[in-house]
Amino acid sequence: MMRLAERMMRMAGSPTMKVTAAVDRLRRSGVEVIDFGAGEPDFDTPEPIKAAAHQALRAGFTRYTPVGGAIELRQAIAARYEADYGIDLGDAEVMATAGGKQALYNAALALFGPGDEVIVHAPAWPSIPEQVRLAEATPVLVPGDPSDGFAIRASALLERITPRTRGIVINSPCNPTGALIAEAELAAVADEAARRGIWIVLDLCYEKLIYDAVAHNLPRVLADRCRDRMALCGSASKAYAMTGWRCGWLLGPAPLIAACSAIQSHATSNVSSITQQAVIAALTGPQDAVTRMLAEYRVRRDSLHDWLAAEPRLRCRRPAGAFYMFVDVRGVLAGLGLTTSAELADALLERARVAVTPGEAFEAPGFIRLSYATSMTVLREGSARLLEFVASGVPAA
Ligand code: GLU
Repeated sequence: MMRLAERMMRMAGSPTMKVTAAVDRLRRSGVEVIDFGAGEPDFDTPEPIKAAAHQALRAGFTRYTPVGGAIELRQAIAARYEADYGIDLGDAEVMATAGGKQALYNAALALFGPGDEVIVHAPAWPSIPEQVRLAEATPVLVPGDPSDGFAIRASALLERITPRTRGIVINSPCNPTGALIAEAELAAVADEAARRGIWIVLDLCYEKLIYDAVAHNLPRVLADRCRDRMALCGSASKAYAMTGWRCGWLLGPAPLIAACSAIQSHATSNVSSITQQAVIAALTGPQDAVTRMLAEYRVRRDSLHDWLAAEPRLRCRRPAGAFYMFVDVRGVLAGLGLTTSAELADALLERARVAVTPGEAFEAPGFIRLSYATSMTVLREGSARLLEFVASGVPAA
C-alpha cells in the first residue's frame, strides 16, 4: 500500500464537496439527479462583476499581485466592512484569500498548534474542525440543542474553556443550520475571551444572507472587545454568486495578517488577479443584486419549509440565514429500515435520485442538509421525491 503522511490516516476529503462530486459523476453517466447537496448559489455572477473581469484581462492585469491582494482590493474589503459595520481597518489588517476556506485555514495554521484546544459549535461546517486538526490542535465540539434551533449560546461555549483553550470559532449564519449568534451572546463570549487571551475566529461567509432585520453587527462586537484577538473571515462566494472565482478575506490585527500572508506566500500566493478586479467591482458597486438574490432565497426557503411540513415526521425550522434547511429525519429512519442519516442520504441518491448532505458531515447525525440554492422547479420536484420516498416507509408505531 502506498505510504502517505501520518496525518492522512486521520483525514479524508471534505464531505460537502463529496456530495457535489457524486452528483457530477452520476450526471456524467447520464443519470438525472436533483441536487440539494451543493452549497453554492445557482445564480450567475452579476454582469457588472463579470465586466470588471473582462476589463482586467483587456488591461493585462494578469500578473502576480502582493500575496494578500492588490492594495485596491484590500481597501475595497476594508471600505465594505466600514460601511456595513462601522469598523475601521488599515491596509495591514486585511488580506484576500482563495475563498473563505483559505482565510479560515490560514488563521488555524497561524494561531493553533499541538496541545491547543479550539472550541467549535456543532453542527459545524466540516472544514472547521478538520482545519483545526490539520494545525495539530484539538477541536472541542460543543453540540447545540435541536429543540432550541441549534442556537449558538455563550454559556455552552464558555463552559468548555480550559487552560488549554486557544481559540473559539463561531460561524454565523451557521452552515448547516442557518442559526445566528445573538450580539449579546457573542459579547459575552468576547468579554471572557479577552479576559483570558483567547482568539475568536468569526466565519462570516453567509453574512449577507440573513432574512430578517435582526441586529447582527458581530464585527463591531468583536472590534469593541477583543480587536487584538479577532480573526474575521468572509467571502465573495455566497453574497455575489462567485463560488468558482475563489475569493475570500481575513481581517484582524496586523501581526496575524502578516503571519497568514507568510503562510499563504508558501501555499497559493495571491488570489487570481482577474478575480481580484471582479471582487473590487462586487464590493464597491451597487449591492442590489445581493438583495435580489436574498429575496429569491426567502421565497424558496418558505416554499420548501411549507412542502416539507406535509410530512410531520420530518422536523425542520425556517432558518434565519444562509440557504440550507437542516431537517431532523430521526422520525423516519426506522420506518425505512435505516439506522442513520448517512444511510438515508445514500438511499435518497440511489433510489430517489435526490442528493442531500447527511448530518454526519456536520457532526450532527440524525439530520440531513438540503441546500435550497436552486430553482423553484428543482425544489418542487426534489421535495416531491423526498416526500414520496419517506412515505414509502412504514410509519413508526
Ligand atoms: N460551503 C459549501 C457547503 O457547505 C461548499 C462546499 C465546501 O466548500 O465545503 O456545501
